[in-house]
Amino acid sequence: MSIELADSVTVLTGVGPQLAQKLERVHVRTVRDVLFHLPHRYEDKTSVTPIGSLLPEMSSVIIAQIELAQVVFGRRRSLVVKVSDGTGSLTIRMFHFNRAQEKSFQRGLWVRAFGEARRGAKGLEMIHPEYRVTAEEPRGGLDTTLTPVYPTTDGVGQLLWRKLTDQALGSALSSVDELVDQRCLPESLQQAYEAATLQQALRTLHRPSADLNMVSMQQANGAAHQRLIVEELLAHHFSLRKTRDLRERDRAPRLERDLGAEQRFLQLLEFDLTAAQKRVCAEVSSDLAEASPSMRLVQGDVGSGKTVVAAIAMLQAVSCHVQTVLMAPTELLAEQHYRTISLWFNALGIEVGWLASKTPAKEKRQTLERLASGELLVAVGTHALIQEAVNYKFLGLAVIDEQHRFGVEQRLALREKTPNKQVPHQLLMTATPIPRTLAMTFYADLDVSTIDELPPGRKSVDTVVIPSESRRAEVVERIRSACEQGRQVYWVCPLIDESELLEAQAATDTADELSAQLGGIKVGLVHGRLKPKEKEAVMAAFREGDVDLLVATTVIEVGVDVPNASLMVIENAERMGLAQLHQLRGRVGRGSDQSYCILLYHTPLSQHAKERLKTLRDTNDGFVIAQKDLEIRGAGELLGTRQTGSVSFKVADLMRDQHLLPLIESSATAFLQFTPQNVDPLIERWIGSKENYVNA
Ligand code: ADP
Ligand code: MG
Repeated sequence: MSIELADSVTVLTGVGPQLAQKLERVHVRTVRDVLFHLPHRYEDKTSVTPIGSLLPEMSSVIIAQIELAQVVFGRRRSLVVKVSDGTGSLTIRMFHFNRAQEKSFQRGLWVRAFGEARRGAKGLEMIHPEYRVTAEEPRGGLDTTLTPVYPTTDGVGQLLWRKLTDQALGSALSSVDELVDQRCLPESLQQAYEAATLQQALRTLHRPSADLNMVSMQQANGAAHQRLIVEELLAHHFSLRKTRDLRERDRAPRLERDLGAEQRFLQLLEFDLTAAQKRVCAEVSSDLAEASPSMRLVQGDVGSGKTVVAAIAMLQAVSCHVQTVLMAPTELLAEQHYRTISLWFNALGIEVGWLASKTPAKEKRQTLERLASGELLVAVGTHALIQEAVNYKFLGLAVIDEQHRFGVEQRLALREKTPNKQVPHQLLMTATPIPRTLAMTFYADLDVSTIDELPPGRKSVDTVVIPSESRRAEVVERIRSACEQGRQVYWVCPLIDESELLEAQAATDTADELSAQLGGIKVGLVHGRLKPKEKEAVMAAFREGDVDLLVATTVIEVGVDVPNASLMVIENAERMGLAQLHQLRGRVGRGSDQSYCILLYHTPLSQHAKERLKTLRDTNDGFVIAQKDLEIRGAGELLGTRQTGSVSFKVADLMRDQHLLPLIESSATAFLQFTPQNVDPLIERWIGSKENYVNA
């Protein structure tokens, strides 16, 4: 029976409806999907590695003799087995073990173990390796090929993947076509294409022979990997371009720039726009005058002045008598924007509405009615602004602040808010810049503007990193002296995942403790469990200077703007991500005083945490921080599934393969010229089943 690439996985032996459903979870629906479901790593059980030449973070087979085995009682009880092979020694550590296991490790016996060697406090360690104890030195029993390890889902084991890929390789590999013509590629990529055909490359990735270099397989830098990576990146690039083309077929209201209104607005401000703000405003303004919906991302470091850029864009909509909204991811930030925008717009005689999920029913109903009738042109709020009940008479521009918090779904919802087939323009703002190379690939469907200049007079924040166990008292004194000099201080409490309640409780305890220690200093408290009114009252008191020290959870992460605050203490900083810490720190350094940030951490620090804290201490530059974040975490996590839809790569890794991205751009142009008919099959092959992503 011949098997076609497009056939459902159920044609393979052993795949029934139940298994098919599980495979669906990893987007494997067809035989083609099986062939393109590629291992994400390999194990090398083809040879024995002397302990002396083990590489950390690589799994290897070792054969060694047992020197000592004992149960130790540390933070957790563990069985520790010390082994050596004449080239070095290593510790096997197990946290789960039974009596029989404990007794099997006798001094002088042999052990063959397979696992990842890590550098522990006392030299190399393998934690829970696969192992076998024997009386004699073990011989033979090694694999003949590298073992592929497939990304998987519950209930689908590696053995099953091997069976599926065996069948697909046997019956369908020969029908996989080359879609990428070599002429499309720059010279530097030609070699990989000459070294392996697509079919050979797929076979190599699924069944690498033992003589292949494990390191190069792991680092994906061999010809087989390279040509597949190029294909995959091209596929993603085209998919984004397609999204963009679809959008360009939509209609949007043309919003002409009104220089008079803009002039009146600028006169209201106490400052002049920076050159960067002016440039970005002009870019946004010409987008809005287009007849197809624009989508632009404005990135600018914390404090670079994105709000005023948003306001000017909104003004352009109002001048053309269409509606515009500004959405923020948290209520606190939305309130802050509401205050700023109302202050500015009311002075021009423009009314601004407010909408959040906690807005009282009556007020909400009124606002909704006035948005539906078109009486209200401007509204600020949270994502309540795009929920089902909200209808607009004529929404022309939606501004979304801190876009990384909004998912693709929200973007889609917005699209559906539009009457008479017009789609609003969208302006996204973020303080978490995406490194340029990634922006080109990932935002091929957006235009990107960058505010690469801070308003004059900003000082960078001096950051210190301090262990909290030993030096908390010193920090408390520092707060006292800052407050006595009339400065204001933030104390940011630790993040407690998944529990707003616990987080609020911890913050309350901290506030009590600090106010006991700092007699005479007025302490305020804000956390996620407070009612909006209470929150607002505390923030107002802090803004007015009636509160000296504001103890807060990370609710203050974005947008809060109190220039007199010049010291921030962040507790358990090691638990937070780089971008988040940078955002938090951006709350200080907004006034004329030199500002400070104290990052408190608990020991011991992981390697990543150490690097994160050091990065913050060394730089205030959001771009440098984002680049570093990318290096530490990898691109997938940085972009996050929420931001980019269901983007996930099979072989490419945006961080590792960054250098290829510019080549992809130029190859794509040639591809379209030589083989435009191959664009859709290429997308189908690599991204095929994720329709949502393509249409987002
Ligand atoms: P962010 O980019 O972080 O959203 P904001 O829009 O909140 O920054 O601006 C931060 C502060 O800088 C605000 O108080 C704002 O009024 C002020 N600001 C914005 N642009 C300028 C400028 N060109 N000159 C001086 N201050 C400015
Ligand atoms: Mg902002």
